[in-house]
Amino acid sequence: MDLSCFARYRLFDGPTAIEPLTSLNAELDGVRIFVKRDDVSGIGAGGNKLRKLEFLLGEAIAQGADTMLTVGGRQSNHARLTAAASARAGLKCELVLPRVVPRETQDYLGNGNIVLDGLFGAAVHDLPGDADVAGFVAARLEALARQGRKAYFAPVGGSSAVGCLGYADCAAEILRQSDEMGVRFANVLVPNGSSGTHAGLAAGFVASGKPASFVKSYAVYHPAEETHGITLEKARETLALLAPGRKLLGGDIVVNGDHRGEGYGIPTQGMIDAVRRVARAEGVLLDPVYSGKAFAGLLHDIEANVYKPGDNVLFVMTGGTPALFAYRETFEN
Ligand SMILES: *Cc1c(COP(=O)(O)O)cnc(C)c1O
Repeated sequence: MDLSCFARYRLFDGPTAIEPLTSLNAELDGVRIFVKRDDVSGIGAGGNKLRKLEFLLGEAIAQGADTMLTVGGRQSNHARLTAAASARAGLKCELVLPRVVPRETQDYLGNGNIVLDGLFGAAVHDLPGDADVAGFVAARLEALARQGRKAYFAPVGGSSAVGCLGYADCAAEILRQSDEMGVRFANVLVPNGSSGTHAGLAAGFVASGKPASFVKSYAVYHPAEETHGITLEKARETLALLAPGRKLLGGDIVVNGDHRGEGYGIPTQGMIDAVRRVARAEGVLLDPVYSGKAFAGLLHDIEANVYKPGDNVLFVMTGGTPALFAYRETFEN
């Protein structure tokens, strides 16, 4: 896959490691889980948004932007990494953070990612959960333009088609590593929030001659059906940039919505158990909003014999460690 025609601002040295969860795997009946460590790459405490930000910042800089503007929840990992990446690139950063998650604890409102947003020098716009976010963003873009500033707007999760290129590139990286390691994966599993990670990987696999359904996701934001539609649309837009003419059908995008619980950012028992289990077995951190729920889904599917003994599966560790501190009470024993 040739991405050299797209502007890119490097934020980490690839490829990220792929490693087996050896102790945990010994407890499973013959299915081996490998993890791709996108959680420990590069700057700003790491996470999946850095791959998208390489292309988003690349485009922003090419357009002559001096400011990055993005949106997310109060504990958005994407917002935190946009702040870190903007700092690295010498751009100003503004974060529009509506309180969309029904959680009002001191730690949720003031710890975790929000501490880091400030450290990286970003300006935070604190909005109520029912705010007109699109209206606020439009007004803010206008106000910045009137001051002679040039802002680049990245949508929620950085999941524009350009942002998704980061995970299309990751698809090729996974195929290379799989070859080098001599390990075949039955599936690649990811959490699905704003859908860019799933969509980018799906487009990247298709562009590399693999079926899109090689990657499957667990929805944590919208319910499954809505997530499926959004992912399909973004995957098609991304594929149009990479390999115009290649088609994607609805059945190519596989989304499981059974582990989302009551909604985005609301803990589930499965998530709590998965975060604890992986922490204790491996010393590795899932997060409470995305990868914890997705990993709970993977453990459930392994127990339900979706995979057979001898199968290897690859779970992409997407980061979100700072959010653990925002959910302190959830993990109290
Ligand atoms: C944003 C995020 C995801 C989901 O990625 P999308 O591309 O938005 O679907 C998963 N895990 C973590 C830790 C994230 O911050």
